[in-house]
Amino acid sequence: MTQTSARENLRRIQERIVLAAGRAGRKAEEITLIGVSKTHPAGAIREAFEAGVRHFGENRVQEWEGKRAGTEGLAATWHLIGHLQSNKAARAARLFHSVDSVDDLGLAQRLDRARAEAGITGKLRVLIEVRVAREETKSGVEVGGLPVLAEEVSELTKLELAGLMCIPPLLENAERVRPYFRRLRGLRDDLVKRLGLALPVLSMGMSHDFEVAIEEGATEVRVGTALFGQRGIQAASQ
Ligand SMILES: *Cc1c(COP(=O)(O)O)cnc(C)c1O
Repeated sequence: MTQTSARENLRRIQERIVLAAGRAGRKAEEITLIGVSKTHPAGAIREAFEAGVRHFGENRVQEWEGKRAGTEGLAATWHLIGHLQSNKAARAARLFHSVDSVDDLGLAQRLDRARAEAGITGKLRVLIEVRVAREETKSGVEVGGLPVLAEEVSELTKLELAGLMCIPPLLENAERVRPYFRRLRGLRDDLVKRLGLALPVLSMGMSHDFEVAIEEGATEVRVGTALFGQRGIQAASQ
């Protein structure tokens, strides 16, 4: 990808964000763009950073370990957005500013402990990933288990539970994804009421459906293809 296409792609995405926010009576500044850089090299991350992207999402700890050196010095916020195995939790707690895919208490406890052991000041931001579509075998906590998990995670002292994340089914027609986004927002609103937690973040929406997600209250959208271009064959399994 060339510098020009990074700028051009970002400009188009920002335009779409502004329009979607406008339709919902929201401000575009309320929405954070996370550039999903999985499978793309460090050089592509640098170009996107130079174009103005400040948040990046990777979905594998190991891939990120291999790319980090090439992004040294960039003052960006690094998010882990993919499913995290608990044996990689300690590494993730040191390498990322935010783990957006927590779906189990054991994993959260490991992140909490690793953060304390590494002596990092400041909490690790986490989001709980919710399985909003039952028919798909995907990661994420079941809706029924969410309140207990949220309460337990919110009590871990080295973690800051900021909100919820979901990956709805991949449907061609983005309009059909709307009910899942609405559901995540409803679950968040319930938790805020029931537990009295502040959960400002809703991470939902990808390249083909982020406008609908914004209309339904997304505060973070995770955009890969529309920013970085198509991923290679390697990405198909991720
Ligand atoms: C790959 C990925 C994205 C980005 O998908 P695009 O369709 O390329 O925008 C967003 N979220 C997660 C969790 C991903 O794994």
